[in-house]
Amino acid sequence: MESTTLNNGVEMPMLGFGVYQIPPEETEQAVSDALAAGYRLLDTAAAYQNEEAVGRAIKSSGVARDELFVTTKLWVQDTGEEKTKRAVDTSLGRLGLDYVDLYLIHQPYGDVYGSWRVMEALNREGRLRAIGVSNFHSDRLVDLIDHNEVAPAVNQVETHPFFQRTADQELMAERGVQIESWGPFAEGRNNLFTDPVLGEIGGRHGKTVAQVVLRWLIQRHVVVIPKSVRAARMAENIDVFDFALTDDDMARIAALDTGASLFLDHRDPAVVSQLGNARLTD
Ligand code: NAP
Repeated sequence: MESTTLNNGVEMPMLGFGVYQIPPEETEQAVSDALAAGYRLLDTAAAYQNEEAVGRAIKSSGVARDELFVTTKLWVQDTGEEKTKRAVDTSLGRLGLDYVDLYLIHQPYGDVYGSWRVMEALNREGRLRAIGVSNFHSDRLVDLIDHNEVAPAVNQVETHPFFQRTADQELMAERGVQIESWGPFAEGRNNLFTDPVLGEIGGRHGKTVAQVVLRWLIQRHVVVIPKSVRAARMAENIDVFDFALTDDDMARIAALDTGASLFLDHRDPAVVSQLGNARLTD
């Protein structure tokens, strides 16, 4: 597995397994299958309500803790100093772990500065090996970096062939922040899996559209965490390290960019209010 070295020296796999929208009762099986297929990076979140099932799969897998890279995320209602401390304890308890490899602020809303100060302290203690953010546009990212001690190691943002984030990635690189893609397949939107350009490129390399997309992201040095509940697709999605896209392939995929989200605009006041007030627990 290829890896990237984060800004604090921690090694992060370039490809992992995401568990968003996997129901809690299916998550243990899915993660067990993913670990058996060779995935070592697992991406969950308090908001996904499946951290316990991820923890059970880790425990029963027998995979050594130091071979795993586990990410979870802080939900908006738990931002702020005291609530973040409790949220980290709760997530670690659900996962059955003493530490996570990466802890992300899930959304750029609420008291993220209070949360960040606590995360910096927990990072120094080793309970959070690396800390980062998700869904931060570049202006918010720069502000967080410029007014705190520790710069985020990662920014996990929507990134796929139809929303490529090249300018954002450039800014992150300048600031030492690793970009991580969520929704690498755009969850199949825009007919991604039957896209003729991606299909033609895959045909020439003997690879599927899914494999072309993941390879394209990894070649751009974007970390990927595709989700699937099917073992055959898990195997397909990790089998992307035995071929390389040509400059021409990369240029043709670059031309698919629409420059806009297929999901939501994190700067839209309606989205800020809707996500910012979504509560996991009363
Ligand atoms: P995704 O990985 O882009 O797409 C998942 C969809 O693609 C599922 O419907 C899956 O179906 C299908 N699929 C997977 N592999 C396939 C293949 N080889 N061929 C055809 N179809 C395939 O979407 P995502 O789950 O939203 O994103 C990935 C991860 O990013 C999440 O699981 C989560 O960890 C993270 N994420 C983070 C945020 C955030 O705000 N930070 C937001 C969204 C997602 P099956 O399962 O039926 O195979």
